[in-house]
Amino acid sequence: MSNPVLTAVAWPYANGPRHIGHVSGFGVPSDVFSRYMRMAGHKVLMVSGTDEHGTPIQVQADKENASPQETVDKYARQIGGDLQGLGLSYDLFTRTTTGNHYKVVQDLFSALWRNGYVVPKTQLGAISPSTGRTLPDRYIEGTCPICGYESARGDQCDNCGNQLDPADLKNPRSKINGEVPEFIETEHLFLDLPSFAGALGTFLSSRQDWRPNVLKFSQNLLDDLKPRAITRDLDWGVPIPLDGWRDKPLKRFYVWFDAVIGYLSASVEWARRSGNDDAWQEFWTNPDAQGYYFMGKDNIVFHSLIWPSLLLGQNGQGDKGGEPGAFGTLNLPTEVVSSEFLKMSGAKFSTSRGTVIYVHDFLREFGPDSLRYFISVAGPENQDVDFTWEEFVRRTNFELANEWGNLVNRSISMAHKNVGAIPNPTALTDDDEALKSLSRGAFEVVGGHLRQSRFKQAASEAMRVVSAANKYISDQEPWKRKDDVARRDTILHTALQVVQDANTMLTPFLPHASQKIHEALGGSGVWAAQPECQDVEDLDVPGRINPILTGDYAGEQARWESTPIEVGRPLDKPSPLFAKLDPKLGETGPEWAPVVD
Ligand SMILES: [Zn+2]
Repeated sequence: MSNPVLTAVAWPYANGPRHIGHVSGFGVPSDVFSRYMRMAGHKVLMVSGTDEHGTPIQVQADKENASPQETVDKYARQIGGDLQGLGLSYDLFTRTTTGNHYKVVQDLFSALWRNGYVVPKTQLGAISPSTGRTLPDRYIEGTCPICGYESARGDQCDNCGNQLDPADLKNPRSKINGEVPEFIETEHLFLDLPSFAGALGTFLSSRQDWRPNVLKFSQNLLDDLKPRAITRDLDWGVPIPLDGWRDKPLKRFYVWFDAVIGYLSASVEWARRSGNDDAWQEFWTNPDAQGYYFMGKDNIVFHSLIWPSLLLGQNGQGDKGGEPGAFGTLNLPTEVVSSEFLKMSGAKFSTSRGTVIYVHDFLREFGPDSLRYFISVAGPENQDVDFTWEEFVRRTNFELANEWGNLVNRSISMAHKNVGAIPNPTALTDDDEALKSLSRGAFEVVGGHLRQSRFKQAASEAMRVVSAANKYISDQEPWKRKDDVARRDTILHTALQVVQDANTMLTPFLPHASQKIHEALGGSGVWAAQPECQDVEDLDVPGRINPILTGDYAGEQARWESTPIEVGRPLDKPSPLFAKLDPKLGETGPEWAPVVD
């Protein structure tokens, strides 16, 4: 049996609807990967949820004249709907405001505390002089003390990626009203990151197969680890389970601390909902299990250094030793897969700066598969990419409609018209054998790329088979073989077999289209399963309803192999797969977008 695979997907923040830049970084790549791994025979657990704590939620709630809970209820539902619409096959997409999450966060913290990896310290906290309220880190802007970038945020510099403390910023100012924040002394708990330096160094040096940018970036930070605050002065978050802290209404865990533990809490919740409370262990404490973490590049440090530190501390494996906590000995990440940014006309997609294309608008107009394809083949896998409507139209019209849609349509149409079923092949020529062997061989090549999260190369290799099949049909001219029906049928059979193979290889990218093609080839039942939105009762807070995303992927038929098509299976006239877009869209963009905040 193949290794169990945990796909841990970055948690979208629930202070508004998500845009296509977000889903290109964490969403689509993690789903393509998970769908491939399931097809290749791995047991996969794909989890995430909405990240619902922290001061930006409070700020958004104030703007909407709502409570933080009302605000996150609204956006959790909206974001879940978007991800469902994209066909992201989460086993569980939950949220950080569940009773289960609170308990897992507190249990993990307790192990860190007992093992001595958390230390109390006084630090300077920012308040707004005009209102007297705590000023959120992200709402403080200033010059990065490390690289000199002038628009660094209080918690992080988007230019050099370093974690920051607002008090370290040069020339700090409030992004809300421009005033200079006042810094006052306040007590907080800190994760003692320096006491993981040795263990993290050993961990990173065992991960030589990571993308070099992720590995080097993380190793460079090792020499300069500082204790990092895990609590905040705010009333919206997970309470701290320590005497003297738990009852203080203004002390909560910092949102990054609780959110990153979500990978574990969502796995535990999935297990509890599955009827086997311990089922999560197969993916977390089984030494054969592998954990793949997907995120945008601004989140690398949380997954390559901070989350491994929390795991090591819980396990009692940091430089101070200790005993494993309530979760036993948890696995460290196998792979940290980060994407660069999808930009629009050079500006980073961001709800706070510039232009936005929301996922729900995009899905309404174009459906999921053209976006999934665009992100896979032209997305920000290795470098920042500018999203242009011109490129989107070109990829959709020339690659999906003209190449792939046309191959499917003309092979099935010809077989339908001439035979009414999958034709019977006779003696194969060298050309037939060559195409079939190219197609069979591509499974290994495409699969190898997907296993290593090289989505562009994987999609391009699969599309090479499609191009070869189109050329084969044009060269063989089956429509001219009226006098040699046996040869015609052999050509059509060969083409349909390659359609079947290419459809299998494109299933992780185009799961909706692949289901239709499966049916157009005479298949029935579920080929590629889709997630569904459900309202479920919180497992620990009776009466509370949570929107979740889940699915049953065990029954789907797609397997990563060449499946012989069945001669004689009836074929109907196919309907077109991909609608061609108006080329004018490429010049002007749609009327409804981009939305400018
Ligand atoms: Zn910087």
